[in-house]
Amino acid sequence: MNLPHSQPVADFSDYRDDFPALQQSVNGQPLVYLDSAASAQQPNAVIEAVASYQREDHANVHRGVHTLSHRATESYEGARDKLCNFINASSRAEIVLTSGTTESINLVAQSFCRPVLKPGDQILITWLEHHSNIVPWQLVCEQTGAELIVAPINDRGEVELDALYELMTERVKLLGIGHVSNALGSINPLRDIIGHAKQAGITVLVDGAQGVPHMSVDVQSLGCDFYAFSGHKMFGPTGTGILWGREQLLEAMPPYQGGGDMILEVSFEQTVFNELPYKFEAGTPNISGVIGLGAAVDYLSGIGMDSVLEHEKSLHAYMVTQLAAIEGIRLVGTAENQASVQSFLLNDIHPHDLGTILDHQGVAIRTGHHCAMPLMQRFGLPGTARASLGLYNDRDDIDRLTGALEKARQVFA
Ligand code: PMP
Repeated sequence: MNLPHSQPVADFSDYRDDFPALQQSVNGQPLVYLDSAASAQQPNAVIEAVASYQREDHANVHRGVHTLSHRATESYEGARDKLCNFINASSRAEIVLTSGTTESINLVAQSFCRPVLKPGDQILITWLEHHSNIVPWQLVCEQTGAELIVAPINDRGEVELDALYELMTERVKLLGIGHVSNALGSINPLRDIIGHAKQAGITVLVDGAQGVPHMSVDVQSLGCDFYAFSGHKMFGPTGTGILWGREQLLEAMPPYQGGGDMILEVSFEQTVFNELPYKFEAGTPNISGVIGLGAAVDYLSGIGMDSVLEHEKSLHAYMVTQLAAIEGIRLVGTAENQASVQSFLLNDIHPHDLGTILDHQGVAIRTGHHCAMPLMQRFGLPGTARASLGLYNDRDDIDRLTGALEKARQVFA
């Protein structure tokens, strides 16, 4: 059978040619980019969509009657439609364009939670979360007297589901949970978790920053209430992001920020807010970025997200085997369901030193706490080295990584 999801791993290497940044040498070696969890490289299609808007169509959106403004508006709103289809939202009104996952989560904390939270209420998160899915809840808890509670994880980096479900009492007003851990790669069993939360009457926000770039996401079938993600991790431009929310919930929420574009009518006495999703989009948006993001959605749709997931799972399995064979390696994060990310340590080499030695060999990885300090504390570590995959990586990249690590081990022997 020649179904897209049965595409052999080798075919995926061809996509690398679409990414100009991957064609360069760094420190005299062909670049191996293993930092896509921080920010993914952009294909030519995205770069060209942005450049073409800037060259020919640049104008402000929504308000202009002239041709350039029409063209800009069409491409910008076209990207919203593409995003709507990509995550199977039920309406384009549910696609709020933001600057990234961080802003999307802050929007929910301030517009959905802040008006209703009271002392005694709880927000539930897990130990796996990125700071962007911790700090906005801390802020709103401080503002309202509500309490932030945290579900534990096990030593493999998996959420302890029984403990999580026990914490789901009527006091919990919102569960904020990551789709995939950026530090450990653990994929949360969202269907189960959301099912339990819904039974307990809890609103669920999914931090999908590491979900959407790596697998097919259908927000309606997931059953969550909000899903937040970033453009730059899904091969689009920085400064773009999405908050998907159920229309009914968004409708009832007050605006997040005031300004142009989010209004229908303004007088000094009162303002009538715009309809969804514009009510949440004050001011001139990142027009070129969103147009580029639309091109990224087209690019990913052309490949198929099920194929991307299969490719990355297979590559991740190879990476784990190859890393484990290196003397002195300690894998951090060994969840049963894991993809695209692997954290590790090598002997007692400081992760930053490791990252620097690898960079000298043209291999880009990330080192540090990965914006997940509580998670690092859970493992008793100041940080880790992390290799993260994108659809353009292949086995040669993994071999270069392990070769560079062998060298580092010898340097520090
Ligand atoms: N959540 C997770 C799981 C992430 O990996 C990141 C980015 N590292 C964020 C949230 C924040 O995304 P952004 O900086 O694009 O807002």
